[in-house]
Amino acid sequence: MTALLETKGLKAFYGDFQALFGVDITVAEGETIAIIGANGAGKTTLMRALSGVLTNAPDSVFCRGEAVGALAAPDILARGIAMVSEGRRLFPSLTVEENLMIGAYGKRRGAWTLATVYDLFPILKERRANPATALSGGQQQMVAIGRALMANPDVLLCDEISLGLAPVVVRDIYAAFPRIRESGAAIVIVEQDIGQALKVANRVYCMMEGRITLSGRPEALSRAAIHAAYFGAQ
Ligand code: ATP
Repeated sequence: MTALLETKGLKAFYGDFQALFGVDITVAEGETIAIIGANGAGKTTLMRALSGVLTNAPDSVFCRGEAVGALAAPDILARGIAMVSEGRRLFPSLTVEENLMIGAYGKRRGAWTLATVYDLFPILKERRANPATALSGGQQQMVAIGRALMANPDVLLCDEISLGLAPVVVRDIYAAFPRIRESGAAIVIVEQDIGQALKVANRVYCMMEGRITLSGRPEALSRAAIHAAYFGAQ
């Protein structure tokens, strides 16, 4: 069956520096995939290649079988792949609601509207007229997720959404994921918290030094195998 999203032998370079050495992943409709790995393993680079930020791997990224590795972010978004950025990148002078509306760019229809995003994160409805910068870090992350959902994506890419947030806030954000999954979207998360990743994902890929070192269903992976794939043989 054709994968919704796939990389085949994906390589990535920053100048002379090679960050990815032939990465193969697949994402099927409705799956939740977690990508784990230590700092510098290449997780963000992989997400950049999937979301159209890196566009120099024309023959290595596929969406429903179509080569999309040379397409820039707006064209990737038009194919139903939306990214929640690390660091959030909201428009600081716009209100919460205006930031959410920007996500509705494009004409894809589906479950997500202002009303359903507010239902998912009720605090955003209360704060809708506030500038995005007046929100806490966790609330800003909710706006970033809501903004990506407003595009009604088939795949939601989440790069380190728990970075710098208190555990209780992270828990609130992850509590929204079952409903996002119920809406039919596949989810790809990059997560440094292995426990969180194993809890939320149907399938996990572990990366080290630009390569996939382990993949499988969380329940099938032993702690020892994950440890070795994450840190290398010690
Ligand atoms: P982190 O959890 O720290 O974000 P990561 O697994 O996401 O790590 P990447 O950010 O993808 O890893 O980085 C992979 C490698 O590429 C690292 O060695 C990093 O130093 C390098 N790298 C990333 N971005 C750039 C860049 N813009 N220029 C040069 N090298 C880069």
